[in-house]
Amino acid sequence: MNLNLDGTGTIMTVTGPISTAEMGLTLPHEHIMSNFGAEPAWKAEYPVAELLGTVLPYLEKLSKLGYRTILDCTTAYFGRSPALLRSAPGRSGRVDS
Ligand SMILES: [Zn+2]
Repeated sequence: MNLNLDGTGTIMTVTGPISTAEMGLTLPHEHIMSNFGAEPAWKAEYPVAELLGTVLPYLEKLSKLGYRTILDCTTAYFGRSPALLRSAPGRSGRVDS
């Protein structure tokens, strides 16, 4: 992350870098999906259709409320899956597209 206080920095999203000026209203510490409580595993396994059916309505609501960026803090071994976030239908790694 190259975060400059003057708004000229960049952050890495699941689809590539964006300017911090593009971030807009941001949720700074979220866990869109997690297997917290399960046995830690390097690769998370999710029932994808069920997961997206649960998560996407919330993301759409956040978008309608004006949020444009979510910082997902889920760690390795606890369900982090940037590939799943990137592949979600209609998603670009950002809340708004
Ligand atoms: Zn957390």
